[in-house]
Amino acid sequence: ALQKPHLNLAVIGHVDHGKSTLVGHLLVATGYVDEKGFKELEEQAKKMGKEDFVYAWVTDRLREERERGVTIEAMHVGFETPKYFITIIDLPGHRDFVKNMIVGASQADAAMLVVSARPGEFETGIGPQGQTREHLFLAATLGIRQLIVVVNKMDVVNYDQKRYEQIKAEIGKFMKLLGYDPSKIPFIPVSALKGDNIKEKSSNMPWYNGPTLIEALDAIQPPPRPTDKPFRMPIQDVYTITGAGTVVVGRIETGVLKVGDRVVVMPPAKVGDVRSIETHHMKLEQAQPGDNVGINVRGIEKDDVKRGDVMGHLANPPTVAEEIVARLAVLWHPTAVGPGYTPVLHVHTATVPAQIIEIIARLDPRTGQTVEQKPQFVKQGDVAVVRLKPLKDVVVEKYSDFPGLGRFALRDMGRTIAAGQIIEIKPKKVEIK
Ligand code: GDP
Repeated sequence: ALQKPHLNLAVIGHVDHGKSTLVGHLLVATGYVDEKGFKELEEQAKKMGKEDFVYAWVTDRLREERERGVTIEAMHVGFETPKYFITIIDLPGHRDFVKNMIVGASQADAAMLVVSARPGEFETGIGPQGQTREHLFLAATLGIRQLIVVVNKMDVVNYDQKRYEQIKAEIGKFMKLLGYDPSKIPFIPVSALKGDNIKEKSSNMPWYNGPTLIEALDAIQPPPRPTDKPFRMPIQDVYTITGAGTVVVGRIETGVLKVGDRVVVMPPAKVGDVRSIETHHMKLEQAQPGDNVGINVRGIEKDDVKRGDVMGHLANPPTVAEEIVARLAVLWHPTAVGPGYTPVLHVHTATVPAQIIEIIARLDPRTGQTVEQKPQFVKQGDVAVVRLKPLKDVVVEKYSDFPGLGRFALRDMGRTIAAGQIIEIKPKKVEIK
């Protein structure tokens, strides 16, 4: 069968703005959930007096399935548009959402920002503590250049064009500060609940001439697929499957993996051989960047490796960092960030504590020029070059070599403190037996 190109989509936005509902509607509209399955869900929802939640339910059920790790397929919830097979990275849920967002953003080819038009909800999301703001900042700093903005819950505001224009203008203003050109980003007025402008143009909003959501998804540029780089795959999960053995699940960042290849997982330095590769119900002879795969490996046990480790070829193992030099932007901190500060480093699928050991320079956020050498500390809104020391072994790579392994966020107190890109690495020597 002819395969459509894969696209990994992160769904971001403030809690309760309608992410689950929208994803549910997309899955139903594109046939991922069939009519019969949907009818059953609708019946259940009705019995519980929760008709309005039926689309969110679709998403919740799939998320539960994925979390239970029942099948490899459950890891890859996705839907087809005319052009793409789109995988939703980390189905939106309420638990650990920002953490998932960081993992999601580091793997995403594009992001769909869901913003509620309901009076008060939009304002909270874009406000100083809001997740609309936080997620947009993360998307920009983590390097996601392709965005779609869904202005949701238009039914609540009577499909009012003025409200749509106001939201578009305010988000556009913030996007400009982050280096996006809002005139090149689609803003789609939608009702995730009623289905307006998702698959078909809504007659409730004749004033809107732009694309439907499905059309906007199809207009996303296919991401570059660096097949000529060394193979890297951050591990999302590890399973033992009866009859198969150890299956390692993740998304290939760079390079090509073939059946029979000799691989190594770092930092644990475990070596194995690829027995088979599977994606979306299909066996593959080889897999390439962007593919979400389950890899059956011989020689590696389930307990040898974990989420956050990275697989590479034995001939070119992933880099374990002793120290990192990074450029970062400080999103939020109540006081100041200086040497000794130890937040949690989130990079690809890994999380480890990391200490700031030196602030090398403070930069002008617009030009990137150094404005101060070796400042004592940096504050909210500053951009700086810092030296970081991971307090546990972790694989990272330079952003310029492996973007997906070189962008990170720092979190503390349940919030995102900063995000940035890795410029240099002092590697740690790890013996591979
Ligand atoms: P999430 O937290 O972003 O995943 O948001 P949910 O999808 O769980 O939705 C939060 C609430 O908003 C639920 O009560 C939904 O029924 C409701 N909701 C979502 N989309 C719409 C919409 O387009 N119109 C209306 N009226 N309500 C919506």
